[in-house]
Amino acid sequence: MIGCDCEVCTSADKKDNRLRSSILVESPTTTLVVDTGPDFRYQMLRQQVKKLDAVIFTHPHRDHMAGLDDVRAYNFFQKRHIDIYADSLTEEAIRRDFYYAFADTKYPGIPELNLITISDQPFMVGDIPVTPVKVWHLKMPVLGFRFGKITYITDANRIEESEKAKIRGSEVLVLNALRKQHHISHFTLGEAVDMVQELQVPLGYFTHMSHQLGLHADIEAELPDNIHLAWDGLILHLA
Ligand SMILES: [Zn+2]
Ligand SMILES: [Zn+2]
Repeated sequence: MIGCDCEVCTSADKKDNRLRSSILVESPTTTLVVDTGPDFRYQMLRQQVKKLDAVIFTHPHRDHMAGLDDVRAYNFFQKRHIDIYADSLTEEAIRRDFYYAFADTKYPGIPELNLITISDQPFMVGDIPVTPVKVWHLKMPVLGFRFGKITYITDANRIEESEKAKIRGSEVLVLNALRKQHHISHFTLGEAVDMVQELQVPLGYFTHMSHQLGLHADIEAELPDNIHLAWDGLILHLA
């Protein structure tokens, strides 16, 4: 966190150095990212991501959307637009915040975005099957996504029974866990552990952690054997 000198923000452990939540999903033919937060540009530079076919959005909060403009590097190298999958709420925010990308007369070099409206129905991005899972971020509907064996849910504090059915059977669940103390729109660490256990997913990884959660190594030691804190740069092979 900017300006903070707590033990997490000053930790020498790289796993305590957390940028905004996002994942990249890759198949032999297709590469997509879920969300483009303010750190998107640096994350793509750091991981040396050379190809991007699509972005899928969870919800329109700035920490998940602000970096969208930087997909223009992929427009430039791939000489084509980027497919942007978003629900109508998020699409409205994209059209408002990145209005210049949708102007009739476009300034050269702006991002070329092909907006595709999604709902709760499954869809394909190239050869990657995507099943949206609607969760609640206080009163805002947020989309989680299941990609075959793995489900990714960020920014939730409640999941309806009907949506839990879509998660069950996953081999991995990535779930938000903000901190130990109660929060109005995010699962706490305890609530996130309970959700992984309730859904009987064999492997859980937590994301969207605040510096208030504590040191990675300390929290990791407290968690059940099948649940871990994720870290920036973590790669899971699910083929
Ligand atoms: Zn801090
Ligand atoms: Zn967030």
